[in-house]
Amino acid sequence: MRFSDFQSNQIVVQTLKAAASGRRLNHAYLLYGPAGTGKRTLARIFAEALLCVGEDKSCGSCAHCVKFQHGTHPDFTVVTKPADKNFILIDQIRRLREQVFVRPNEAERRVILIENANQMNLPAANALLKVLEEPPSYAVFLLTAESRSLLPETIASRCVCLGVQEVPQAAARNWLTERFPGSDPAEVQRAVIYGSGNLGRSQAYLEDESVRRRYEQALNLVKALAFEKEFNVVAALAPFEGDKTGFLRLLDDFDNILGRVAEIPFFPGEDAELKDIAVRLDPLRAGKMHDLIDGIRQRLFYNGNCALVTALFGALLKEI
Ligand SMILES: [Zn+2]
Repeated sequence: MRFSDFQSNQIVVQTLKAAASGRRLNHAYLLYGPAGTGKRTLARIFAEALLCVGEDKSCGSCAHCVKFQHGTHPDFTVVTKPADKNFILIDQIRRLREQVFVRPNEAERRVILIENANQMNLPAANALLKVLEEPPSYAVFLLTAESRSLLPETIASRCVCLGVQEVPQAAARNWLTERFPGSDPAEVQRAVIYGSGNLGRSQAYLEDESVRRRYEQALNLVKALAFEKEFNVVAALAPFEGDKTGFLRLLDDFDNILGRVAEIPFFPGEDAELKDIAVRLDPLRAGKMHDLIDGIRQRLFYNGNCALVTALFGALLKEI
């Protein structure tokens, strides 16, 4: 994913793009807006661009971009709420603080993403504030939240705050239907879900058969887990035993679907297929599955044997 994949929210996209190229780069950014607007994707594109050493950032092909995409860049840290806790806790921020003051290993910057930063409890927020008050020159903090007002003003006021607007599902559907006349409405609906507000992604879904096939495979895996069909879990992973790149992409799609399903209790949307899954898949289980994914990506990166890693992934998923 690159900045050019974003068709909506152009003011935000252009601001981040300019910042990544070194113009008016601030120490902290807050991307806020409703769930499903692509904040997380945008934050990751920005993070990759901040680490990238290519010409048109992010180039997607320099050593930094490659490591970033494999989830193994040593100068990129993600902080999220643990699945079994109600908050992002002070211990996490303390560990983060120690890391932040170590100079970056490989890149020129150290990039820290705090997802759903409003989930920090007060002690954690206060600890973060101390770092934001005097950050080391190489550090860039990216925070996401559903609204600016959910964060303490002391933190928000230290960030460049950028509001990310939702492309409503109906608008996305109309845009895609106009652009792809004659498409099957069910496929257009899946494209809307796949893009979650990012029209570039939705477009790729309709244009590229391999994207659709992979999404279908990821969806089958989520369904197999939700409906506890063990054999289908094995079947869903089998095609990837010898296909590392495909497997990494499957992990992305799988994680995105879990994210969409987790939002359904709060933002039901209109998608019957995902609603069905949400009824069956306990959010705690979904959270644990999400937590697995970074570890699996790293194993895949360091351990060449894709067959072993897919088997391990299947086994760990079934345990959850
Ligand atoms: Zn690059």
